[in-house]
Amino acid sequence: MKNLNMKFAVILTLVAVVIIAVIVIIGSNQAPNQAEIDREEVDITGQPLLGEANAPVTVVEFGDFKCPSCKAWGEMIYPQLVEDYVISGDVKFSYINVLFHGKESVLAALGAESVYKQDPEVYWDFHKKVFAAQPEVVNHDDVWGTTEKLLELASEFPSINQEQLRKEIDEELTLEQVEIDKELYEKHNVSQTPTITINGITMEDPFDYETIKEVIDSELEANKNE
Ligand code: CA
Repeated sequence: MKNLNMKFAVILTLVAVVIIAVIVIIGSNQAPNQAEIDREEVDITGQPLLGEANAPVTVVEFGDFKCPSCKAWGEMIYPQLVEDYVISGDVKFSYINVLFHGKESVLAALGAESVYKQDPEVYWDFHKKVFAAQPEVVNHDDVWGTTEKLLELASEFPSINQEQLRKEIDEELTLEQVEIDKELYEKHNVSQTPTITINGITMEDPFDYETIKEVIDSELEANKNE
């Protein structure tokens, strides 16, 4: 009887090993299917765009001018992304305003939308300047994103009309654009900034550039095979 039990145990173990092996083999043979990846394309109609309009891959940053991590992302990841993919025409980049830090987030977004409306060509330089103006050590209660500060930052761009910018911030004349952004980040369930999406796929860690590269390369590959 004991012998029989032993045999039974051995057979059970063998069966288990075979099942596990089959699962592992099937799993490793399954290349990630593009269609099966959880994605929700972001509608960037009317949004600032960096790069070639017909670039096959779209990277969207949901960011907040008052968010320290967004400043860090802009300094650490964004330059690599531009260098590796935007200049070559593989990626186009867009930015959606998120309003997680109160009044200053709204002011900066209103100002940025006004600058974009007045001269899309200088938008990205202004965008960079706003982040650069963010204090190195940020106390969330520090007020720096004032209308005066935004006007000062924009004063370096001759194509930006200061009076118009002041009026559009003060009277919230670009609020409609800011509201469109708000609807977008709510629709995409953005709960932290920056949130980075690549062709609608949300990156778990926006600072993991290796994974960002992998996803972009895989999207480029899929585009080539289409
Ligand atoms: Ca916008």
